[in-house]
Amino acid sequence: MADGEEFVINGQKIWTTLAQDATHMFVLARTDKAAKKQAGISFLLVDLASPGVRVRPIRDLAGHEEFNEVFFDAVRVPRENLVGGLNEGWNIAKALLGFERIHIGSPKMPQYALGILTRVAGLRGLQADPAWQERYTALRMEIEDLADTYARFVEIVKRGEPLPPEVSMLKILATELFQRIADLIIETAGEAAQLHGAIELGGGRVDVLAPFYKAKPATIYGGSNEIQRNILAKNVLHLPG
Ligand SMILES: Cc1cc2nc3c(=O)[nH]c(=O)nc-3n(C[C@H](O)[C@H](O)[C@H](O)COP(=O)(O)OP(=O)(O)OC[C@H]3O[C@@H](n4cnc5c(N)ncnc54)[C@H](O)[C@@H]3O)c2cc1C
Repeated sequence: MADGEEFVINGQKIWTTLAQDATHMFVLARTDKAAKKQAGISFLLVDLASPGVRVRPIRDLAGHEEFNEVFFDAVRVPRENLVGGLNEGWNIAKALLGFERIHIGSPKMPQYALGILTRVAGLRGLQADPAWQERYTALRMEIEDLADTYARFVEIVKRGEPLPPEVSMLKILATELFQRIADLIIETAGEAAQLHGAIELGGGRVDVLAPFYKAKPATIYGGSNEIQRNILAKNVLHLPG
């Protein structure tokens, strides 16, 4: 709600990563109640030290407190903290989400998981097993494919062009590959995968579940993969809704 030279925010936002360490946060706030859906929303930069802001950490399945619920109780935000035009915040949000998806679509996380897979297989003496090798090689080749696809999108960013909706495909490819590698780590570790944290395995120490805990949420944040598939169906394949 606009009140003179300030906006006044009331409400709550769940799942804000690292809000406990942040000084500011972006908020998409409804500034026109009569407008429908994504219209009538403004993009505001909020100082988290403002009176009326409360940050409540949420503990995840792995026991970490990395994301938070943020409450806004009559928080006053100066008009100069409006980013872009009034009621035009969704366009900025869409551009930001494109960048988030290319960031999540990097081959880095699958490569990290493959490193742990290689180590777990080595500790369990499975690296010479032909059946395991076949699955490992297939995943490794998928990472190469992902790296090529990622490079294509990076070129678009380097040319200063807007990211096309196809970037949703990159997010799906990267996160589902990451998850499949995390699943194979668990299978490769056998019974040891029931244990939380760094464990002894075949004479070495390794955290078998760490990639699994990171991979599952990656299919959700940045927009869930179901929503990414909807975007591809509508904006890339132009299928009837
Ligand atoms: C670890 C983590 C960190 C996060 N960090 C941030 C952050 O920093 N900032 C932030 O703003 N958000 C953050 N989020 C929130 C994240 O973006 C949302 O959780 C995600 O977009 C899904 O939205 P939702 O939770 O409202 O699920 P919902 O929309 O309630 O969806 C629930 C389920 O229904 C499915 N679904 C919903 N609608 C459709 C549809 N139309 N068609 C098909 N399936 C559908 C979804 O795919 C999902 O499986 C984070 C989430 C996680 C898990």
